Amino acid sequence: MCGKGYDVVVVGGGPGGLSAALYAAQAGLEVKLFEKKKEWGRPVRCGEYFASKEELARLLPRLKCIDIIEVPEEAIDARCKSLRFISPRGHEFEFPFEAYMIDRQEFEHHLGEKCLSYGVEVELNTRARFYPDAEGGWVGLSREEAVHGDIIIAADGYPSMTAEAAGLPQYGYATPHSVANVIEYLMTDLSVEDDVAEIYVDPKWSPGGYAWIFPKGQRRANVGIGIREPYVSRNVRITDLIAGFIDKNKTAAKKLEGGRKTNLMADTLPVDGPLSRTYSHNVMAVGDAAGMIMPTNGGGIQTAMITGRLAGETAVQYFENKAPLSSYEDAWKEQIGVEMQNSRTVRRASDKVMGHRIMLDLMLRLMGTKKIAEMLLCQMPGLWTPLIRLMA
Ligand SMILES: Cc1cc2nc3c(=O)[nH]c(=O)nc-3n(C[C@H](O)[C@H](O)[C@H](O)COP(=O)(O)OP(=O)(O)OC[C@H]3O[C@@H](n4cnc5c(N)ncnc54)[C@H](O)[C@@H]3O)c2cc1C
Repeated sequence: MCGKGYDVVVVGGGPGGLSAALYAAQAGLEVKLFEKKKEWGRPVRCGEYFASKEELARLLPRLKCIDIIEVPEEAIDARCKSLRFISPRGHEFEFPFEAYMIDRQEFEHHLGEKCLSYGVEVELNTRARFYPDAEGGWVGLSREEAVHGDIIIAADGYPSMTAEAAGLPQYGYATPHSVANVIEYLMTDLSVEDDVAEIYVDPKWSPGGYAWIFPKGQRRANVGIGIREPYVSRNVRITDLIAGFIDKNKTAAKKLEGGRKTNLMADTLPVDGPLSRTYSHNVMAVGDAAGMIMPTNGGGIQTAMITGRLAGETAVQYFENKAPLSSYEDAWKEQIGVEMQNSRTVRRASDKVMGHRIMLDLMLRLMGTKKIAEMLLCQMPGLWTPLIRLMA
């Protein structure tokens, strides 16, 4: 190991890693980023739903870096004005919520170009490994080809080999309830509403999770399900479940009739909130690598960008003022910690009724649109809070 040394080495060029690299490089640090894909953001593995800046400010009222939530015009496929939530027996609860449907590939390309313009050295098509040492560590395709970083940012998604190598509790996280398996088609030739995003709670076809229809304009939509193993009957395959949702969920099937399924993709997501520790002496984990997905709604693009930025800024403070990396964890806890915690509590409480179609339906109807919206958006639902805490 005799490669060049950098202030910061980032493993993973998704929204989290790109944001971390950008904010470190903008302040003048020497940054290297490794990304295993050949092209930014491709293949796309995402529903591409992205709350507007105004909604995010409401959702995360303590967030200080709201300016990070910018989407270039060319990366917007559609604009949604509301979110519709559909219960197991087809009851609809709709509330205003502005969001973009982004073109994730275009979005990451834009962030990648920005990084390059600030001097980040990027190596695409490289699956990097992390070899820790007392002063940070070495990162590269192999030990022989590795470069040194004083600070390493684990932004390699879930599960993160980099966080694991740094001793952060990645695999301890993976209980069956804390991880969702997701599968999604891009569907074409549809006549869905272009400005309404839909979420279906349907224990039959998305056991332990939910299904979604997110419109992408031009008669297209991302249609997917997220499930969790403890709720899935034996010998049932996830491909059969998504087929069942598309063809047999009474409400969805009418909307998706005649649509063509393209681009099947599958992945695994952490849905139990942040890791119990997101930094070590010289390593910070951001985005999915740190479990930064909102457990009640599965959104993780923006929390990846936020934690990426906070890690990049902490790296700057480390070099300028010898600030410890623990200040990264302090910063995300201060700005988004309450909502991540609420979201985990609500998800854990909902686990108790997830398997019971009729009880779940009844509970949702009793709660009504306002409380459903609050829970989905990581707030505690008023008078229901003691019950939710008891159930969690
Ligand atoms: C089906 C699906 C639907 C989703 N829908 C939404 C949605 O609608 N809205 C939303 O907000 N979130 C959604 N999410 C979640 C969202 O995609 C993630 O939370 C977000 O991408 C996290 O960003 P990240 O940068 O932390 O990780 P990722 O986007 O996973 O980026 C990690 C990057 O690291 C790279 N990498 C991994 N290992 C290595 C290595 N060893 N060396 C180099 N590079 C490496 C990967 O190629 C990848 O590019 C969805 C996820 C899935 C799977």
